[in-house]
Amino acid sequence: MNADVLVIGGGLHGLSAALQSARRGASVILVERHFLGRHASGATAAGVRTLGRHAAELPLSLEAAGDWHKMGDLVGDDCGFVACGQLQVAEDEVAFSAVKARVERLQAKGLSHERIVRSDELRTLVPDLAPHCLGGSWAVGDGSADPHRTIRAFRDAAVAAGVHIKEECKVTALTWRAQVWRAETSQGSIEAKVIVNAGGAWAAEVAALAGDPLDHAIRTSMMVVTERTAARIGPVVSSFGRKLSFKQTAQGTLLIGGGSQGRLAADRQSATVDVLALASSVRSAVRLFPKVGGMRIVRAWAGMEAMTADHLPVIGFSRRVEGLVHAFGFSGHGFQLVPSVGRVLADLVCEGHTKHDLAAFDINRVAAERAAA
Ligand SMILES: Cc1cc2nc3c(=O)[nH]c(=O)nc-3n(C[C@H](O)[C@H](O)[C@H](O)COP(=O)(O)OP(=O)(O)OC[C@H]3O[C@@H](n4cnc5c(N)ncnc54)[C@H](O)[C@@H]3O)c2cc1C
Repeated sequence: MNADVLVIGGGLHGLSAALQSARRGASVILVERHFLGRHASGATAAGVRTLGRHAAELPLSLEAAGDWHKMGDLVGDDCGFVACGQLQVAEDEVAFSAVKARVERLQAKGLSHERIVRSDELRTLVPDLAPHCLGGSWAVGDGSADPHRTIRAFRDAAVAAGVHIKEECKVTALTWRAQVWRAETSQGSIEAKVIVNAGGAWAAEVAALAGDPLDHAIRTSMMVVTERTAARIGPVVSSFGRKLSFKQTAQGTLLIGGGSQGRLAADRQSATVDVLALASSVRSAVRLFPKVGGMRIVRAWAGMEAMTADHLPVIGFSRRVEGLVHAFGFSGHGFQLVPSVGRVLADLVCEGHTKHDLAAFDINRVAAERAAA
């Protein structure tokens, strides 16, 4: 088989890159060693958040926010996106000062996607919030989506655009000869002019096959779902300085996450739930919403993805080998970025450049020799 572009990794970033490259006329093969969405993209809380984003990520995040509000235009489905808003609560004066300073910095740059809310408005937005919460920041255009519907919509759109998707197809070797990559896979050889490494938690393994050694950590974020409750929580709620994010699904269950870490298996191929760390997230949720105390937990899981030291992704060309573009290291907040990062990757593979400034996402930050130094 051969194509212009071989995308390695069938998570949402691989699918988005494949879809948007194919729409620009490239022939694209996407390979996924398990099934689409098996890892971070299927385990995600699917929060669509500009709130609290690192300044370097904001241009991509604000562009993606526009996409989420008209997702039907991109993939023919709204992906279950609901603009319920995201609220970051400050539980003490120190936290509130930090949140206010961030919003002032944004406003000084002319950005208005976050605004400060005081105690009374906080209670209007979320009536059951604990009385100690002083205020917070409110991003009215943020929200959350349905991860599985999102995967399905991106897959269907990619297939309609002509992307050839191969599941249960693991890339095991890569060689670059005569300006062409040859990938050995569990389903035979594939040749392509450009490779996109969207390998998630295994991006370093894929990069090593291509002769571009790099090093990143692996996050193993956990999620909990409770039984259904009659309580009503509209927005996605987080708390400044705590590993907590909290929302209610359309079915009435509560989804609690926010970054508590599970246990990574020694071979770095799977992760399991760490009940003690999980208990701490759940305690934080009960502290913010006393009404949820005593509810039964029905399911918990841990998902894996690559994490960089500065928690910013790696997006861009390899600096060591030709014809290789990386997109990984989203460090727990890559779901919202899927539409805009896919567009950037399509720029790179189809045109060789993008209008976006990718300096903050440079691969050299995670080059293996830098990590060893
Ligand atoms: C529990 C949890 C909660 C999260 N919550 C949020 C949130 O609320 N908001 C937000 O913005 N982000 C969130 N994220 C982050 C977001 O989900 C991820 O950043 C995003 O899904 C990453 O997508 P991906 O395509 O890069 O990676 P993945 O979905 O992990 O895809 C990578 C794929 O590459 C495949 N692969 C690897 N090596 C090979 C190989 N050699 N050959 C073939 N295939 C290979 C893997 O099998 C995998 O399926 C969360 C993540 C987790 C785990």
